[in-house]
Amino acid sequence: MAAQLSNADLAELLARKAETSSGILVRAFRRAARSAFLWPELAPDLVAADRPLTELHGVGPFIAKQIQAWIEKPPREEMKPPAIRRDFLTRADARVLLAAKPEWSKRLRGDLQMHTHWSDGSATIRDMAEAAKERGYQYIGITDHSKGLKIAGGIDEKALAQQGREIAAVNRLNPGSGLTVLRSIEMNLNPRGEGDMDPKSLARLDIVLGAFHSVLRKKEEQTARYLAALRNSDIQILGHPRGRIYNFRIGLKADWPRVFARAAKLDKALEIDSYPDRQDLNLALLKIARKEGVRISLGTDAHHAHQLEFIELGLAAALKARIPADRIVNFMDLATLRSWVQRLRERRR
Ligand SMILES: [Zn+2]
Repeated sequence: MAAQLSNADLAELLARKAETSSGILVRAFRRAARSAFLWPELAPDLVAADRPLTELHGVGPFIAKQIQAWIEKPPREEMKPPAIRRDFLTRADARVLLAAKPEWSKRLRGDLQMHTHWSDGSATIRDMAEAAKERGYQYIGITDHSKGLKIAGGIDEKALAQQGREIAAVNRLNPGSGLTVLRSIEMNLNPRGEGDMDPKSLARLDIVLGAFHSVLRKKEEQTARYLAALRNSDIQILGHPRGRIYNFRIGLKADWPRVFARAAKLDKALEIDSYPDRQDLNLALLKIARKEGVRISLGTDAHHAHQLEFIELGLAAALKARIPADRIVNFMDLATLRSWVQRLRERRR
């Protein structure tokens, strides 16, 4: 008997099916492929338990029939995905990895990338805070987009200051809850590593994440832009470093050992953006990151409160890459996190 199909295998089969389909089926199969990364259980386990596959997110009756056929008679084809779909963890796999080492997830103190209705997210700061409290977090960083990213409703210095007042109010509402909402931002960086916000306004934030959102399809190595971003004294964390997106964009290339070595020397962090379509840094790069000893920050890039659950993907990737616990930024308690940011800010003077 052939080995049981994993959700990752099914995602790949669905993505390939999209490529040979036409009309509305292209989108339906593509969407189902992406959804497969979020299924909390293995599809073949549902079939074995006589449960309908339509319980799974993104699976209607038509797609369920196709998946059922694959599960009953696994195709003989090689399942290895092309580079644009490679090295993505499924949530089902992440759960197995994390369940084997429960003390790992227990170290998590917070989430350092999420969006609210201040930019392109759908929830309020308070909604995010409530969801974070339910998860037992000590802190979250609110990282709405900065003004240069117009398409995502990026905010300017004035709005950032207003948001700061709202965050202060949310924190006042919750004394003793154990949760602190941190003022942060996902500052847009141009390919020269420069941000688009007044450094004075950034200095009032608790922590600053910078990220590239443009010229992400260059084929040539982009090492220089990463080194420039790391030198940017306004930021502490570089978000979704490669800029890859599942089945859409492969992301940038760089001399990664050199980039990570420089980040380690400057004591800056690189992120695992745990959004299922991103998973950036990915496992292959995390192994290089471990060798160079760089700090790793975990962010869900959540745009809805329920998406805080994506953190499982980042936690599992870091665990699988054997990143030491003392290199994970979000394993620090709030006071230690603040003093790390403070040290980086003092260094530039
Ligand atoms: Zn981003």
